Amino acid sequence: MIATSFLEISAKAYRQNIRYIRSEIGPKPTISAVVKGNAYGHGIAEMVHIAEGAGVRHFSTFSSDEAWLVKKHSNKNAEIMILGMLYHEELEALIQSEISFYVFDFERLEKTVEVSKKIGKAAKIHIELETGFHRTGFEWEDRERLVEMLQAAKDHVILEGLCTHYAGAESVSNFVRVKNQISAYYDFKNYLSEHYLFFNRYHTACSAATLIFPETIMDMVRIGIAGYGFWPTKETYFAKLKDLENANKNPLKRLITWKSTVMSLKKVAMGQFIGYGNSYMALQDMRLAIVPVGYGHGYSRLLSNSGQVLIGGQFCQVVGTVTMNAIAVDISKVKGVKAGDEVVMIGKQGKKEITVASFSESTQQVNYEMLTRLPKDIPRKIIS
Ligand SMILES: *Cc1c(COP(=O)(O)O)cnc(C)c1O
Repeated sequence: MIATSFLEISAKAYRQNIRYIRSEIGPKPTISAVVKGNAYGHGIAEMVHIAEGAGVRHFSTFSSDEAWLVKKHSNKNAEIMILGMLYHEELEALIQSEISFYVFDFERLEKTVEVSKKIGKAAKIHIELETGFHRTGFEWEDRERLVEMLQAAKDHVILEGLCTHYAGAESVSNFVRVKNQISAYYDFKNYLSEHYLFFNRYHTACSAATLIFPETIMDMVRIGIAGYGFWPTKETYFAKLKDLENANKNPLKRLITWKSTVMSLKKVAMGQFIGYGNSYMALQDMRLAIVPVGYGHGYSRLLSNSGQVLIGGQFCQVVGTVTMNAIAVDISKVKGVKAGDEVVMIGKQGKKEITVASFSESTQQVNYEMLTRLPKDIPRKIIS
């Protein structure tokens, strides 16, 4: 199959990002590479390979299907942790495979203990605490029952982790909320310690927390977006900027490049409408390139009349609406464009660059969303 567009994923950029994160956290903490959402659109198979090449031996997924994919593609017997969804029917297989998972309510805890008793193998669990994110996690009010159950289940569970997730670590203005979460976490941790419940790893930090709230780092950090080379928000970058050496003001490097080719060329006379409806009228004679990517390929419809691509080293604007499989772009100012020429939707061409951030700002999508919308079936190629 020849696809209409391609993704290149830079292993070198990833190594550099991991080096930077390592320099921030010091030698001890484990880095867990978060590969949910098809590795933020980069591809789980590709990212497991790249991350293992960069020395990563721990992966986090949202769901069990992703965990099985990591297991399939790992050559280094990586540790795998499920942060979210699994079905009770899968517990047996997960426990047998020593895949660890979050336990955030009594029902999952009961089922886990039941299955590990039945198969005679202890389950590796991470107890998730509710500290203010208000999605999943044990509440402070649950503590007595939790202690009782964990003590009773001592032979059936391995207390692999004690964890929580911050609501808004990506903004310094949430300082108070994050501080409150940190102290709620420690209250809970101390309570559990007083009851002789100790965990192999204490872990709370995502990328933003790791970068701007270093007190959240502990035994392990769960790194998603920063590993892929993006600052969680502009604010995290600005908060960090003063600490960065002048020679290296941007230590996080984008891994992904998204390319296609010119499918055909078209001339449009002044006064003609381009594409469906009448959203764009040519105000002068124009030359267009038709590019075979559309919203069906993750190129948002919100980029109609506003998105840009690179052709011949120049920015070219999308004209008319983005359709399911194609866009028209204005190449009136670019000389010598032919069918088959390279088109860059994200990445560099010559001296110019389209970053995911500039792409997503115009669509009101954050980096995270734009990346994860890239379909699984676009071919991904690792560039060393
Ligand atoms: C997604 C996720 C992360 C990673 O977040 P980034 O901001 O991408 O680093 C960490 N922890 C949990 C629980 C998550 O769901």
